[in-house]
Amino acid sequence: MEKLQNFIDGVYRAPIGGTYIDNFEPATGQVYSLIPDSDERDVELAVEAAEKAFPIWSKMTTEERSKILVRLSEGIERRMDEFVQAESRDNGKPVSLAAHVDIPRSVSNFHFFATAITHFSSESHYMEGEGINYTLRKPIGIVGCISPWNLPLYLFSWKIAPALAAGNCVIAKPSEVTPYTAYLLGKVAEEAGMPAGVLNILHGLGHKVGDAIVKHKRIKAISFTGGTKTGEYLARTAAPMFKKLSLELGGKNPVIIFADCDFADMLSTTIRSSFSNQGQICLCGSRIFIERAIYDKFKKAFVEKVDRMVVSNPTDPNSRMGALVSLPHLEKVLSYVELAKEEGGTVLTGGVKVQLEAPYNEGYYMRPTVIEGLAFDCRTNQEEIFGPVVTITPFDSEEEALMMANSTEYGLQTTLWTSDLKRAHRVADQAQSGIVWINSWMVRDLRTPFGGMKSSGVGREGGLEALRFFTEPKNVFIKY
Ligand code: NAD
Repeated sequence: MEKLQNFIDGVYRAPIGGTYIDNFEPATGQVYSLIPDSDERDVELAVEAAEKAFPIWSKMTTEERSKILVRLSEGIERRMDEFVQAESRDNGKPVSLAAHVDIPRSVSNFHFFATAITHFSSESHYMEGEGINYTLRKPIGIVGCISPWNLPLYLFSWKIAPALAAGNCVIAKPSEVTPYTAYLLGKVAEEAGMPAGVLNILHGLGHKVGDAIVKHKRIKAISFTGGTKTGEYLARTAAPMFKKLSLELGGKNPVIIFADCDFADMLSTTIRSSFSNQGQICLCGSRIFIERAIYDKFKKAFVEKVDRMVVSNPTDPNSRMGALVSLPHLEKVLSYVELAKEEGGTVLTGGVKVQLEAPYNEGYYMRPTVIEGLAFDCRTNQEEIFGPVVTITPFDSEEEALMMANSTEYGLQTTLWTSDLKRAHRVADQAQSGIVWINSWMVRDLRTPFGGMKSSGVGREGGLEALRFFTEPKNVFIKY
């Protein structure tokens, strides 16, 4: 059985404690590799390596750092197929999705920040008759990057790339549920000429090695993407140490569909925004609000389309709906279907496990699910499910749609379908979310601020926001 290793100080190493955790393949339900069960001793080793590397990396010219990161991006691109297969196997996502979204976007993340840093500048503020302020932006030092399992390399690289570009040394931890592509990244970094100790990748459990990263005094900032409860714990732990924190957390995103929308475009995009990656994208829309005039038409057309969706083994190139990430997660999602029924909902389609033929008969599959008849404020409509389950609810006015859309504790993303320009601007303005997509979904421009409000997070990633987060501003005033 393959044993993954940590990547510390430019070399792959076994965890100091010598113990490992099982890594399951969601498509088959079988253990297929072992993950280091790292602890605070591995973190200490990584921090020492990063401290040694920091003067070298932070003093390199921006162009030199940029070139290394461009090479890293190209290194992933060259091994595209290896990364695609690994991501699909580790996560259960269709290879087509890993090939079109996850890995190409990871390549773009490194390329984008490798070049963005060469355009990054700081401010100066002129005071008439007095003098001038200028702001220096220096790397923070050693930073921690902790990422989730749903878009493994995509979200891992989304943090690491700006952190490195800004001149920091990184202690990174991928999810223990999907460690494989992060494991492969060490080799690519080495081939790209990244100095030893600049990027350290540790594997293991959140409450063990993750916690040790968050608590380590010499790690000065934490960029975290994951669940809201974990984010809350991280904030409680890191805040008394005055660490810089960026938190990208859960969501319960609304889709608001007005009768005047382009129905065909809306319908096919809503299938994607509901069920891409088995509904396990923080940006998926899980509460669909439909203007009453087209509610029945939408319901019939949507359910028909969902009924035709095929759940299949994710290695099949034609697969569009693969396995959920783990057995506990599948069980959690199914438990929400039961809750929805208890709360008075009607399952229009799905709601059940799927058993494929051997060797996929123990994989974690479920039918895409549509539920109607629930109150907007019931638990099913308020809590994050993070699976292939959506609810549909009619509305009678713009005010009512907004009230229901904004009613959760979350505020990550709102999708809006309408042909009325004024209404589009008005609703976007009032949506309580960090991101609004109008007549579209998951269109990403890496320069834009990315993140959520309310319990969906603190701070923003993307573009200059990320480079600002990973640098410490210092204002200097000089008198005339
Ligand atoms: P999670 O919070 O369980 O884990 C995320 C990461 O944190 C993992 O690497 C985990 O090992 C680590 N971790 C767990 N406990 C920790 C602790 N005590 N100290 C330090 N690290 C710890 O989340 P998950 O189940 O992996 O991911 C799903 C969640 O992520 C969903 O809530 C989803 O909405 C959210 N998410 C948010 C975004 C966003 O951009 N806002 C993007 C993707 C996923």
